[in-house]
Amino acid sequence: MDQTPHIAILPSPGMGHLVPLAEFAKHLTLQHNFSVTLILPADRPLSIAQNTFLDSLPKGINYILLPPVNIHDLPDDVRVETRICLTVTRSLPSLRDAFKSLIASKKLAALVVDLFGTDAFDIAKEFNVSPYIFFPSTATCLSFLFYLPKLHEMVSCEYKDFPEPIQIPGSIPISGRDILDPAQDRKNDAYKWLLHHSRRYTLAEGIIVNSFKDLEPGPIKALHEMKEPPIYPVGPLIQRNLTKQIDAEDECLKWLDNQPSGSVLFISFGSGGTLTQNQLIELALGLEMSEQRFLWVVRNPKDRVANVVQIQSDPLAYMPKGFLERIQGRGFLVPLWAPQAKILNHGSTGGFLTHCGWNSILESVVQGVPLIVWPLYAEQKMNAVMLAEDLKVALRPKSNDENNGLIGRVEIANVVKGLIKGEEGKRVRTRMKELKDAAVEVSSEDGSSTKALAQVAHKWARFVHKTISLL
Ligand code: UDP
Repeated sequence: MDQTPHIAILPSPGMGHLVPLAEFAKHLTLQHNFSVTLILPADRPLSIAQNTFLDSLPKGINYILLPPVNIHDLPDDVRVETRICLTVTRSLPSLRDAFKSLIASKKLAALVVDLFGTDAFDIAKEFNVSPYIFFPSTATCLSFLFYLPKLHEMVSCEYKDFPEPIQIPGSIPISGRDILDPAQDRKNDAYKWLLHHSRRYTLAEGIIVNSFKDLEPGPIKALHEMKEPPIYPVGPLIQRNLTKQIDAEDECLKWLDNQPSGSVLFISFGSGGTLTQNQLIELALGLEMSEQRFLWVVRNPKDRVANVVQIQSDPLAYMPKGFLERIQGRGFLVPLWAPQAKILNHGSTGGFLTHCGWNSILESVVQGVPLIVWPLYAEQKMNAVMLAEDLKVALRPKSNDENNGLIGRVEIANVVKGLIKGEEGKRVRTRMKELKDAAVEVSSEDGSSTKALAQVAHKWARFVHKTISLL
């Protein structure tokens, strides 16, 4: 039997979960000589981006694709969190099989799941393997989820109707309407799943969170004060081994090479974020009015066409008339997917208009790129509040409540100009630079994140050595 300590990691479906868990796996293999198997539940074949990503994983990390489960019985309007949670629970029988074969050949020290994977703890327990959570989002969100069972008892209305801001332990007060999406409709199954998992978080023997003390001092302190389960803030873990993901990659990086330093605003709404046709038009015209340079990952408008990366489609067709000609030389549009981490790492990039996915934010922090926050879904509104109001590393355009929450072109133009050229841009850039320095510090040899990762790795390695010596 292979005596190297081995960790099974179960990312719940979606690139936004796979990327940070794979990054965590890389740290375990490269810094602590573990080997890792990623076990992937799914309800559909993997996307091209996921496949390319998995094929680029380094030695020491294997993956098992569990057979896709059938979720065709779910209604068309089912929320994504319900789909994810059911995909995990329906994959448990095949997870058990995967565990059986892993246990036969490897010294399995722990099963690590993410925020929606705690049902897999039952399988870990069956095989006497320690259950852990890698929380790929904020410590604020984690603190909220620990608080949720209590909040659920205290508040009977929808959180958005609650007159007081929600006081998440350690966080600045957050208005109920900014709390994460699946908590916004208490009758919806997605909320029940959220509550279900949050109640099971205490079953974990430890929670690893992709954040660090300077980014979220209050929530991290509050989580540590709970004592159990122990919390390990190991962030920022971001994609560093940047493999080529798409063919158009060279073209957009070459374009960036020819732009002045810090002059380009990068615009991307994560792996799945989309806008309505009206909002797309406002954004395009706002960018044009700003007279700044930009590199924009364009998706089809969500009220017009399905946005699946594999589908051949031309999102550029939905741009305002004459737009492409007018912005030539100043704007560069990439359909569907761009090499984000490389773009943020490029010297010409001076700002990032982001949907506030946590990986995107961490990638920006590591490169010291200031933000314009444009939250869309999941916990992104909470992230936007934290970034703009607490950390002050971001500007936030105002939406027009009288016009369905649309963000207008003039507002967009002002905020874009403000970030790239204005005094407010200078202020958030300076703050972001401080966070970048802090990120370097916590990831250094003696840094708090390096130490937290070493702590949990030693715990796992000790467990394996103990079981070997008992044999
Ligand atoms: N990403 C990318 N190119 C794109 C869109 C996204 O490389 O065109 C990567 C991005 O760098 C990040 C991840 O996909 O690592 C998206 O994760 P995030 O948490 O920001 O958002 P989510 O997709 O989960 O909403």
